[in-house]
Amino acid sequence: MTKLKNKKLMLRNFCNAFCRYPRQSACVIILVVMSTLGHSVHAQNFDSCIASLRKTALTQGVSAQTFDQAMKGVEPDPEVLKSYEYQPEFRTPIWDYISGLVDEERVSDGRAQLSKWSQELARAEQEFGVDRYAIVAVWGVESNFGLIKGKRELIRSLTTLVCANKREAFFKGELMATLRILQTGDIAPEYLIGSWAGAFGQTQFMPTTYQRLAIDFDGDGRRDIVNSVPDALGSTANYLKKAGWVTGEPWGYEVRIPENYSGPSGRKNKQSLAKWNSLGIKPMRSTENKPAKKSSEHSLADTTQAALIMPTGAAGPAFLVFRNFDAIYSYNAAESYALSIAHLSDRMKGGGGIQTPWPTDDPGISRAERREVQQLLLARGYDIGEADGLIGAKTRSAISEFQTSAGLPVDGRAGLKVLTALRSSKPKN
Ligand code: CA
Repeated sequence: MTKLKNKKLMLRNFCNAFCRYPRQSACVIILVVMSTLGHSVHAQNFDSCIASLRKTALTQGVSAQTFDQAMKGVEPDPEVLKSYEYQPEFRTPIWDYISGLVDEERVSDGRAQLSKWSQELARAEQEFGVDRYAIVAVWGVESNFGLIKGKRELIRSLTTLVCANKREAFFKGELMATLRILQTGDIAPEYLIGSWAGAFGQTQFMPTTYQRLAIDFDGDGRRDIVNSVPDALGSTANYLKKAGWVTGEPWGYEVRIPENYSGPSGRKNKQSLAKWNSLGIKPMRSTENKPAKKSSEHSLADTTQAALIMPTGAAGPAFLVFRNFDAIYSYNAAESYALSIAHLSDRMKGGGGIQTPWPTDDPGISRAERREVQQLLLARGYDIGEADGLIGAKTRSAISEFQTSAGLPVDGRAGLKVLTALRSSKPKN
């Protein structure tokens, strides 16, 4: 944006300086020449960037044939740069985030997958010592069990980012890794599709993560986290194991904290369970923190290290989390993310919801309810596109309009209050 402004300013200054008796046509010609020059300079930059990437690739074991084939016809993708620059002005509250990721639908879809892949999951548990519920929860949150894997060509996205100098060293490493994946033939080029930043497949690994941790778990000789569910499950298990998973230990559990608690907290602030106990931090459910039932289960000792996390401060739910929470957290460094996976794994096991309410009078809603909000908006004449349960810019602006007309506080958010108000409002004739 700033660059564009600078360019316009430059052109205006140019005209002011050189068109003393400005004739519009002259200025227009100059403008056209300059912007054409700008375009060709840009294309030249991209071409010379690719030429330099080619040199790097060849020194890193990528063959000229692989490189040339992969880069054939590649052009910068402006959408990728938009996503890179995008600063969401709409921050998702944690209760919305978790309600969308851990709803009845995902719990029951997850259970179906647990039963469908039970043999592979049993083998993954045995080989890597990682709980099958955690593996399936990661899969469910990362790609909705393989249904949502992203739509962008990795080579194009990563080349765009590198050549626009966006975290160049990082994305260059990812691009080189992608080229090496192509070279081994593990994954065909048409399947190297993913997020704008390069995460791909059912596990949404970055290419370098793929290189380090993806495994062939179905025995066909290829590591294919895009098309092979067993490879995706095995690779996730391997990831969590390498991230320090402790076999049989829980991720954590919800706790009660004493009123006016002002002691230690935070994911990195580890204390022994005995210490937490002495501070009055108690499991929410009496079944937690009991000695292990099976010999394979890891019993929690007084010396087990745990951290107290309170995602919305003392007013909301609090959790004691163990080493396995950190393993999940390393997959995508956000507490809300790790908590969603942890909670989904509990729910699939048959555990209940989070008991302490989040500090809001307008709780989050499930994907089924989000679709209902969208259907109700459509029936009331609002243009929201397709009722897909994804709350994007169009749905948010329709919600704002509806809130205005219904005399509700306007925040464009799809929560319980909007759903309730929509249900009792009249459809358009
Ligand atoms: Ca395989």
